[in-house]
Order: sequence, then structure tokens, then C-alpha cells
Amino acid sequence: MRKKIVAGNWKMNMDYTSGLTLFSEVLNMVADEAKGDQEVIVCPPYVYIHSLAQLAKNSSRVSIGAQNCHQAESGAFTGEISANMLGSVGAAYVILGHSERRQYFGETNQTLAAKVDAALKAGLKPVFCIGETLEERNQNIHFDLIKNQLSEGVFHLSAEEFAKIVIAYEPVWAIGTGVTATSDQAQEIHAFIRKEIAVRYGVQTADNTTILYGGSCNPKNAAELFAQPDIDGGLIGGASLKSRDFTDIVKAFN
Ligand code: 13P
Repeated sequence: MRKKIVAGNWKMNMDYTSGLTLFSEVLNMVADEAKGDQEVIVCPPYVYIHSLAQLAKNSSRVSIGAQNCHQAESGAFTGEISANMLGSVGAAYVILGHSERRQYFGETNQTLAAKVDAALKAGLKPVFCIGETLEERNQNIHFDLIKNQLSEGVFHLSAEEFAKIVIAYEPVWAIGTGVTATSDQAQEIHAFIRKEIAVRYGVQTADNTTILYGGSCNPKNAAELFAQPDIDGGLIGGASLKSRDFTDIVKAFN
């Protein structure tokens, strides 16, 4: 059985004090929810990772992820953070290839493939993001685009390495817009992604891969999205900044 995951991507939000408060509330609410077995990942800005990882040390369900890393192990890259550094302060996951990184920071599939390798080498599990813009969907090239993001970004991995990856489908037109993909639209792409994984790595690996949906996911639409056969949870932006909304999404699995 593949893992069900709800991950919160705080992006560049929250100051330290409010971040600690939010995370403590999430930890308590998840701990109260004894019956759940979904994994919860919180991805704060780099500078809060160590403190949050300390708080989560005894939680079997909550872990910490980063929102990016550099592809080199170390060196003269002023201002950058390596995967090893993230692991050393307690991160277990790292989001790679978020559309905001692709759009505003020029990250290409090739750069991302190198980041995926660096993350795995450091023992971090990548949450690899893919997804099309509205223009690409309207041109009906979204399937090819997603296939290409997969093949250039992660399909160079061995089956053993690929087993550590989480995929997140985030249609760019649904991120921060309040427009969610319908559960049918999301399911269609998730099934396509799983099929592509099966072609590359076989059906068993495809069945075991967690594929998250992201883009205006909230407590109202999460249950219907998560009920789709190929949607294994969510990557949550705006709604992860409110402890109640975020934990309601965690509880949305039936
Ligand atoms: P929103 O949930 O704010 O649309 O953001 C989604 C996202 O980009 C998560 O990585």
C-alpha cells in the first residue's frame, strides 16, 4: 500500500514566532487524531527547519521538509543551501521543481534532475512537482509536457531510487488562484502519471508511488479530491498557514 500524505508548503510566509505557534497547533491536532495514519509533512522556510524538526522529534506522523535545495554538495555558492545541510538540521523531505521555482528562478528539468540526485544522496526524499500552465492546457500539450517533466526530471533514477520519490501534480493555473482542478481533471492526470511510471518502472513501482495533488486545495474540496483512486493526498499552500484548515485537510481522507 502506498503512503497517504498531506504536505504543507508555507512558501515565503510566517515569521519565526507565528511559525512556531502554527506548527505547535498542527502537531497537537495531528496527535489528537489518533486514528489517522496519513503522514504529515510541513515545509517551512529554511531558517525554521531546525526548530520545527526539534518539536516534531517524537512524532511518528509529522516530519519536516524544505522547499528547495542546491544541487552541489558544498562550495562557493553564496546564499545557497545544500541537501546535506537540510538533513543535518532535521529535514526528511525536500520539495523540488515547484512551479514558482521554475517560473521565477529559471529552474529547468535538467537542473532539477541534478537537485533530485543531490537530495537522494543526502538521504532526503524529494517531493517532485510537475504541472502545466493554463496556456499549455488550452493548447492541449499538457500530457506531453508532464511526460517530459517526468522523463527529464526523475526517470533517470534507478527503480530503487525512484521508490523514494513523491510526485506532486500542481496545475499552475490552480495555484493560489482559488480555482481547483475538478476531481475528474486531477484524477485524469494522476492516472496518466501513474501509467507513465508503470511504463518506465513497472506496475508495482507505479502502484507504490504516492502522487499528491496541489492547487487551491482546501477543507471543502479535499475529501472529494482524496477519494479519487490515484490521488494519494495533497500539497497545500495557502490553507497550510491556518492550523485548523490544514488539519481539516489531513482529516479529509475517508
Ligand atoms: P495553494 O494551495 O495556495 O494554491 O498553493 C499550492 C501550492 O503551490 C503548494 O505547493
